[in-house]
This record gives sequence, structure tokens and C-alpha cells, in this order.
Amino acid sequence: MSEGASVRVFVITGPSGVGKGTLIRGLFERIPGLELSVSATTRRPRPGERDGVDYHFLTPEQFEERVRAGGFLEHATYSGNRYGTLRSEVLRRLEQGSPVVLEIEVQGARQVREALPDAVAVFIAPPSPEALRERLLHRGTDTPAEMERRLRTAEIELQAQYEFRHVIVNDEVERATEELAAVVRQALARAE
Ligand code: 5GP
Repeated sequence: MSEGASVRVFVITGPSGVGKGTLIRGLFERIPGLELSVSATTRRPRPGERDGVDYHFLTPEQFEERVRAGGFLEHATYSGNRYGTLRSEVLRRLEQGSPVVLEIEVQGARQVREALPDAVAVFIAPPSPEALRERLLHRGTDTPAEMERRLRTAEIELQAQYEFRHVIVNDEVERATEELAAVVRQALARAE
């Protein structure tokens, strides 16, 4: 991956439940031509999730095979499951000339920062820790034990925001999406 190309890699990170996905959907509506990298995970699909669309759902063995083969740009264990960005997902899109967006947790974002220093990383923060807790509790897609685990992880993840140059507070979706779009537009203009 060349230096110049990595300016066209956008890492959207932040705690689970902060609304990364919603902001990214708004970003795609505002800026045409962006492509989302489909991550691999060992987590089981939630109702409605499709293999190859929402994630590449892998068994732990398949995931480990890819790790050994050097297939991941980054990978991490999150809340007991493994997640990773496949190099092929990112490369294919960059080669087609499309800027690529990664929606990943903090450990992975740090690895991308090391591997691709020119990638643009944005941390999405909640208005308050309580607001994040509320969101996670009301999402209702996880078991109570899973939820507790995610809440603890989210508290630790919040501390990581100080490592990122761009921090966007998701207090109001429209406003936060505009701010994210502005960061991406500026970086794309610089990369031209
Ligand atoms: P979920 O299980 O809720 O879909 O995702 C849990 C967390 O893993 C979220 O913070 C999500 O952004 C993150 N995640 C999704 N894909 C990847 C990936 O490829 N790498 C890393 N490091 N984190 C990911």
C-alpha cells in the first residue's frame, strides 16, 4: 500500500454503541464514491446480518489461518470475539481508486495508525459516559452478560479519544455527520 494511497483510508473508531455506523451511513450519503471495508469476525451473525455484506463471518480456525497468512491489516479481540480488516478488502478498493472507510474498535485503529501513518483516523465520542451506557442498554441486541462486558470495554475505550487528532462528539446525528464529512472532504482534497 503506497504512502499516497493511505491518505485515502479513513478509520472511524470509538466505543461500541456510540453510533459509528449511523454516522458512516450519513457520510456515504453525503460523499459519493466512498467504499466500506467489510471486516471479518468470529462473532455470530445477529438477526438480519448477511455474510459478506455486514461481515465476513469466520470460524475461529478460519480467522487464525488468515492471521498466520498475514491476511489482516489489523485485528483485535473485542468482547471475546475476534475482528479484523482484511488487507484484500482495503487494497482492492484503493486499486479501483475508491477511498476506503474502516469502522473498527480502538485497538485496531492504533494498529492501522502504525501501519499507515497517513490514514485519517476519527474518534467518535458520546456526549457523556452515561449517554453511551443508555445507548448500549437500549440497543437490546446482546445478552445481559454480553452487555456488561461491552459496557466495561466502552469505559476503557473512552480514554483512548485523547490519542486521536480528530474527535467528534455524537451529540446530534446531523451535526456530527456534517463534521465527519468535513474532515473527509478536506483529506480527500489534500490527497488529490
Ligand atoms: P459489533 O460486534 O457490535 O458488530 O462490533 C464490535 C466492535 O468491533 C465495534 O466497535 C466495531 O466497530 C468493531 N469492529 C468491527 N469490525 C472490526 C475490524 O475489522 N477490526 C477491529 N479492530 N474492530 C472491528
